[in-house]
Amino acid sequence: VTGRYDRQMLVPWVGPEGQARIAAASVGIVGVGALGCTSAALLARAGVGHLVLVDRDLVEETNLQRQLLFTEAHVAGRVPKARAACEALRAARAELDADAWDLDLGPEQARELFARCDLVLDGTDNYETRFLLNDASVESAKPWIYAGAVSTYGAVLVVRPGEGPCLRCLFPTLPPPASAPTCDIAGVLGPAASAVASLQASEALKLLAGRPDLCSRGMVQFELTELSLRVLPHPRDGGCPCCSRRQFDFLEEREGSRTHRLCGRDSVMVLAPRGTRLDLPTLEARLSAFGPVFRNPYLLQTVWEEHPVTLYADGRAMIQGTKDPVRARALYARFLGM
Ligand SMILES: [Zn+2]
Repeated sequence: VTGRYDRQMLVPWVGPEGQARIAAASVGIVGVGALGCTSAALLARAGVGHLVLVDRDLVEETNLQRQLLFTEAHVAGRVPKARAACEALRAARAELDADAWDLDLGPEQARELFARCDLVLDGTDNYETRFLLNDASVESAKPWIYAGAVSTYGAVLVVRPGEGPCLRCLFPTLPPPASAPTCDIAGVLGPAASAVASLQASEALKLLAGRPDLCSRGMVQFELTELSLRVLPHPRDGGCPCCSRRQFDFLEEREGSRTHRLCGRDSVMVLAPRGTRLDLPTLEARLSAFGPVFRNPYLLQTVWEEHPVTLYADGRAMIQGTKDPVRARALYARFLGM
């Protein structure tokens, strides 16, 4: 370890031994939005050895208000968030070992992520993915850290399987759609997202440095308007379907329909079988017959019957202007012949 991390090693619970553990660690970050950008930047700069960044979206103009790794050049280049974040992190630390997973996280990928990483951080905005991470965490007996920010409010929960509550001890079932406020509806203050991500990264460093005893026990909640912070202790639920009965409903869910409606966005994501690789230049040539096509190394964008479409190299398509999975699958089949 060079002088680069001297200031951090002066913190009593880090020290040279904690720093060596941090350098040897591998951390997955799922969702590289406002939370994921800040926690990834803090952990990369803290010297975490390996990061895996997972995000299915590309950088858009409305992200720039709070997603601190992204620039106007990423918006203009329509760069996937996971790739843009890796590029920004390597500019800050050339030797960082970071992988960009530019994909939609399903059960298989969640298992693979926990197999490769010591810890996973939640940077998502949806409970479906969080419940999937919770299942994969309990199954693999590796920790994850829930984090959420909406408006001026934030919350963080460290889940250490066997040592405290899991997410399903607190929420036995998936909250129904539209029951919880989202950033699309309630908005979000940039500092609220950064504060949550900072708390999450701080809890992560305690775990990585080998001091899980210092982690908060229970849900940390803060509100920035009145400026209050509290920790709500929460016991493990002896009847929890996940951590007590080891019933992994979200991991075992069949991928079935292969489409998702995307919350608050008037769009549908169509998934392709795992391992699909599209030849984007060839597709560009074929799809140009129907209208203008934009292409970069990761994706192409065009319009299918008045629906803007983003088609990724792994075969996923985000089809806008519809909430109907049947319509989305029909367009996909018609233009791609699959
Ligand atoms: Zn539980």
